[in-house]
Amino acid sequence: MDTDLARAWMLAVAESIEADRERLSRLDAEIGDGDHGTNMHRGFSAVREALDGVDSPSASTVLVKTGTTLISRVGGASGPLYGTVFRTVGKQLGAGDSDVAELAAALSAGRDDVCRLGSAQVGDKTMVDALSPAVDALTAADPAGGLGPATRAAAEAAEKGAESTIPLQARKGRASYLGERSAGHLDPGAASTALIFRALADVARG
Ligand code: ADP
Ligand code: MG
Ligand code: MG
Repeated sequence: MDTDLARAWMLAVAESIEADRERLSRLDAEIGDGDHGTNMHRGFSAVREALDGVDSPSASTVLVKTGTTLISRVGGASGPLYGTVFRTVGKQLGAGDSDVAELAAALSAGRDDVCRLGSAQVGDKTMVDALSPAVDALTAADPAGGLGPATRAAAEAAEKGAESTIPLQARKGRASYLGERSAGHLDPGAASTALIFRALADVARG
């Protein structure tokens, strides 16, 4: 991952969040307070502005700036959680370009931090249910294959992970207030995580 790819990734996420903003809020209306699309759209519009016209020296600075922007601009739970992921990934990447193994290691650190911050585990019906299998798929990918196939596997794993939240009862976040009634709905944060990994696979394809 180099500066251009990191920037393209964040811009692709902003676009895809914009396109799916209503769906994300609708999912959140079913088991939360209906603002997940609005929160993510506000956050990634601010990210787009923060990255626009600024020369970032590395993928690391692009991702750290993304994380910091999300933390300061998104009011909901998802802001600090996603902000932490991107900030940690950015910090872990360091100044140079990174390969599949380095990106996987950085994302793995991001996953650990978000699990700690939200005290969430796989199965709690949160974004972690999509993030964690995506990180595992990236880690398991053949590094010789390059970023294209590895990120495609990660996107597929994130999408499957998001789907897996449907039957679950939420144990973290607002949806947990619903108890059993949270079952039967896709977790909005897991849905946005799937968009984030699909955006990565799309920009890494070339
Ligand atoms: P809010 O719940 O404050 O309105 P959002 O609607 O933007 O924030 O985000 C909700 C999403 O955040 C949930 O769908 C879930 O995926 C994620 N989430 C909430 N709490 C946690 C947590 N403790 N750990 C991990 N993810 C969480
Ligand atoms: Mg919400
Ligand atoms: Mg809210």
